[in-house]
Amino acid sequence: MNAKRRPILAGNWKMNMTVTQARELASKLIPLVSSVKDRDIVLGPPFTALSAVAETIKGTNISLSAQNLHWEDKGAFTGEISADMLLDSGCKYVIIGHSERRQYFGETDETVNKKVKQALKKGLLPILCVGETLADREAGKLNETINRQVNGGLKDISTEDMKKIVIAYEPVWAIGTGKTATPDQANEVHALIRQKVKALYSADIAEGLRIQYGGSVTPENVSTLMAMPDIDGALVGGASLKPESFAALVNFK
Ligand code: PEP
Repeated sequence: MNAKRRPILAGNWKMNMTVTQARELASKLIPLVSSVKDRDIVLGPPFTALSAVAETIKGTNISLSAQNLHWEDKGAFTGEISADMLLDSGCKYVIIGHSERRQYFGETDETVNKKVKQALKKGLLPILCVGETLADREAGKLNETINRQVNGGLKDISTEDMKKIVIAYEPVWAIGTGKTATPDQANEVHALIRQKVKALYSADIAEGLRIQYGGSVTPENVSTLMAMPDIDGALVGGASLKPESFAALVNFK
C-alpha cells in the first residue's frame, strides 16, 4: 500500500448468486462496511443481479462492477451485453480479461484491448486482469507473459484514459486454489507492471496506477498482502461470497 493510492477491494462473484441471494448478500454487507471512508468497495455480481444489487447499494459507499462486456455498441451479438446496458444497470466498473474468460471463452489480448477501449469510450472504469499460468512461471516466462498482456491490453490507450484503469494481477495458479502468491512474489510482479506502465506512459501515471492482487485472498492473508508497497487492493473471488468474510477483507488493518 502506498498512502498516495486509495485502496480498492472488489468482489468477483463469478457465476454465483441468484437475484434473491445477491440482494441478501449486498444487504448484509452494507452495515458491515458502512464506516469505511478511505478505500473503494466494489461488488461484481453476475449480469442478472446487477440491477437488484444497484438498488440495494444505492446511497452507500459501495460501487457496482460487471464481470465482462462486449466491445460493440449494440446489435446482432446473441448472448452478449453492451456497455450502455451495464451503465443503465448502475455499473461504474467492469472486469475485463479475467483469466477464466481467457481460458474458457477464448479471450485474447486483442479482444481484451477492444473491451478496455469500449469501456473507456462509454465511461466505465476497466479492471484489467493479467496473470501468468503455472506453466508460464515454470518455463521462466513470467515477465514475457505479463509484458504481453499489459502491452496488449493497453494498446492505443491514451494517457488520460490510463488514469481511469485499475490493473488486477491474478496469477492463474492462485485463483480458487487456496494457493496464494507470497506477498513478496505478488509485489515483485506488481512492481514489474508499474515499471512497464512507467515505460509506456510516465512516472506520474505509474505512481497513480492502482494494482490489485487476486488469487485466494482471505481475511487471514489480506493484511500482509496490503502491507506491500505496490499492492493497492484485492480482487476477491471465493471470499467475497460471504458478507462477513468480504467485510473482514474490506476492513483490513
Ligand atoms: C478471482 O476470481 O478473481 C479470484 C481471485 O478468485 P479467488 O479469490 O477465489 O481465488
